[in-house]
Amino acid sequence: MIIALYPGSFDPITNGHIDIATRASKLFDKIIIGIFSTPDKRLTFSHEERVELATRAVAHLPNIEVMPYDIITVDFARQVNAQVLVRGLRMSADYEREFEMAMLNRKLYPGLELVCFMASQEYQFLSSSLMKEVASLGGDIDSLVPKHVAEALRNKGVSKE
Ligand code: ADP
Repeated sequence: MIIALYPGSFDPITNGHIDIATRASKLFDKIIIGIFSTPDKRLTFSHEERVELATRAVAHLPNIEVMPYDIITVDFARQVNAQVLVRGLRMSADYEREFEMAMLNRKLYPGLELVCFMASQEYQFLSSSLMKEVASLGGDIDSLVPKHVAEALRNKGVSKE
């Protein structure tokens, strides 16, 4: 059984993230979306809120589970017996950082294989931060995030609609 860990801050989960998790769920037996507590970043949603929003977003996918974590990603991968780390790559923005992180992770946990999924064309330019910027300016985010996430952004006062 191949378990893949898809880690990130998911502040909040977007359709781009869901697309990667869904595609990965067809390749591996189980996907764990690992939501890092990310203490060093200023985020819109709390750790618990990010976990809840993501859990609802993938509730229809039986082999995807959402779990919070607050340790080094490779240690969490070991803890949940993941053999694969999943990441999404957008055109140019992600490559260098992912490469750097992959090299470090390989040193820390040589048995963990990284599988990167190319972002789908419609989500190439979608990031949680850009989406929040669009929302705060009153833009329509309905095609970028699930309904309950758009609602949560409105409740936070990030989205005007
Ligand atoms: P992090 O803080 O680790 O970058 P994110 O929540 O921003 O966490 O992203 C988690 C993962 O999802 C990363 O691999 C990122 O490149 C990927 N990702 C983010 N947005 C998209 C998108 N629109 N399409 C595909 N992959 C994405």
